[in-house]
Amino acid sequence: RLRIDFEGVSFSYDRDGQGVQDISFTLSQAECVALVGPSGAGKSTIGNLLLGFLAPQSGSIRINGVDLQDLDEAEWLRRVSWVPQKPTLFYGTVGDNIRLGAPEASEQAVHAAAAQAQADGFIARLVLDYETMLGDSGQGLSGGEIRRIALARAFLKDADVVILDEATGALDRPTATRVMDAVRQVASRSAVLFITHDLEAARMADRVITIERGRIVARANPREPGLRK
Ligand code: ADP
Ligand code: ADP
Repeated sequence: RLRIDFEGVSFSYDRDGQGVQDISFTLSQAECVALVGPSGAGKSTIGNLLLGFLAPQSGSIRINGVDLQDLDEAEWLRRVSWVPQKPTLFYGTVGDNIRLGAPEASEQAVHAAAAQAQADGFIARLVLDYETMLGDSGQGLSGGEIRRIALARAFLKDADVVILDEATGALDRPTATRVMDAVRQVASRSAVLFITHDLEAARMADRVITIERGRIVARANPREPGLRK
């Protein structure tokens, strides 16, 4: 069972101290932790630390007790699915882009993932039917549509850790709700770090951690009655 521990993690981009300070939390398999807070609070920085793109300047990030710094970077990234704040399409068709999540996946698996994503509503309305969509170049798609393809790619990968940065950004509320349902499904098997400034979306997380000016200022458990609505 995967367990991630942030222990007193600090990182600043420069001497002015922008970044994050003294971040401690645990994220386990089959759990969704939401990081909320205003733009510039440090949420993406925490995601980038967990990806290993940034290294803590103090404190540690441990994966089942092993320092992330001591893990093989490529091996770690193979266990992680990431949808950045501004996902982009890679060269190729929409189908190729979804397949990047799991290069070894069969043609049927890619079609099944696309069909599932369409049924879940997060690539619905992209084009009339997903068979056409998979062969499409994806040229001229909106940011919200590209995000939906990136989500299909991330969910096909079936990773140990899923890092979603503003997964519901640029999506209308009904589509966002269906994305959240899909995220809950993923969180039944993976460890999900759900970065958002969408407080409504954060309510489906198991735990919510509020970040302000680089620090944790509140922790809540929205699914436990009495603590928070
Ligand atoms: P957010 O909505 O999270 O505030 P931004 O638009 O500020 O996002 O940041 C977008 C990208 O630019 C991110 O990848 C972030 O790491 C980077 N970025 C943000 N602030 C700075 C900065 N002061 N200098 C360089 N890059 C930055
Ligand atoms: P959030 O994701 O909560 O919007 P970020 O983690 O993107 O916040 O940013 C946290 C702080 O670090 C902000 O002050 C931002 O401007 C700064 N920052 C982010 N990325 C960079 C960067 N690449 N270089 C310098 N400063 C950055």
